[in-house]
Amino acid sequence: MSVLVVGSTALDSIKTPYRENPRLLGGSASHAAVAASFFGPVKLVGIVGDDFPRPYRQLYLRHRIDISGLQTARGKTFHWSGEYEVNMNNRRTLATELGVFEAFTPTLPPSHRDASFVLLANIAPSLQHHVLDQVRRPRFVVADTMDLWLNVALKELLRLLPRVDAFVLNDSEARQLTQEDNVISAVRRIHRLGPKYVIVKKGEHGAILSAPSGFFLSPAYPLERLVDPTGAGDSFVGGLIGYLASRSGPLEVNLRRAMIYGSAVASFCCQGFGLTVTTKTTRTGIEKRVRELARMVSF
Ligand code: AMP
Repeated sequence: MSVLVVGSTALDSIKTPYRENPRLLGGSASHAAVAASFFGPVKLVGIVGDDFPRPYRQLYLRHRIDISGLQTARGKTFHWSGEYEVNMNNRRTLATELGVFEAFTPTLPPSHRDASFVLLANIAPSLQHHVLDQVRRPRFVVADTMDLWLNVALKELLRLLPRVDAFVLNDSEARQLTQEDNVISAVRRIHRLGPKYVIVKKGEHGAILSAPSGFFLSPAYPLERLVDPTGAGDSFVGGLIGYLASRSGPLEVNLRRAMIYGSAVASFCCQGFGLTVTTKTTRTGIEKRVRELARMVSF
């Protein structure tokens, strides 16, 4: 089954202690859509300006991503720039230029409205609502977010939570949302806000899935050298929903495996700037890391 991914489609300028790379293909939807594409068909909805480089459009197409829902408007593509500290965990946003994103309304082409698996990647919660208003009867809806929306659009975000099956956020966002220091207590509170499944990303320490059957802990694939972690969270959730949409059988069993697939895809993302390594990855490479992860957690 195909996956509908809606989110930001951006140009990212990324600075690490070792290198600087301007105007890479980025955005939550780009990372998530490429990650999901290893498992099956993907439809991407976003917006770019008339400065969006043609090779980036071709990159989507090479991954067989349906971009009929990618709008092009006059003006500048959303541009985000960020800088990492030496430990590569702490990141500072240097600039966010909304460009064409400012007037974005994610209108779904008719062929996208029957999507079964929907990923509301990181964008303003009001836009995530707008997408859900258009899809007819989705089987599984996952929403991602970021601290910005907790600060400026909390009401809309809280209204979104009862509408989604799974809510994905990182540990600091879970603490901020619930005012709980303990992540497990935070997860319990988030369930009460609506979602049946809560997934907390903990960067290099993996991710936690909380489901009706209990917790599932997924490790991050251990990497010795991180080049650029931008988009790792988006790749994780893209890989997760891509795998999920490709499987039949009990959802919760598949969701556990999907967490491991998400970790495996995210690890490739961290090994290069932007999408450079993810895009060279193959399903065989992903399967190899999934087997290694399985060995690492078996006892
Ligand atoms: P992550 O590293 O998973 O937090 O995701 C980084 C991606 O989020 C980058 O590719 C950015 O283009 C994108 N991004 C940054 N700020 C925003 C924003 N305000 N809305 C949507 N996407 C954003």
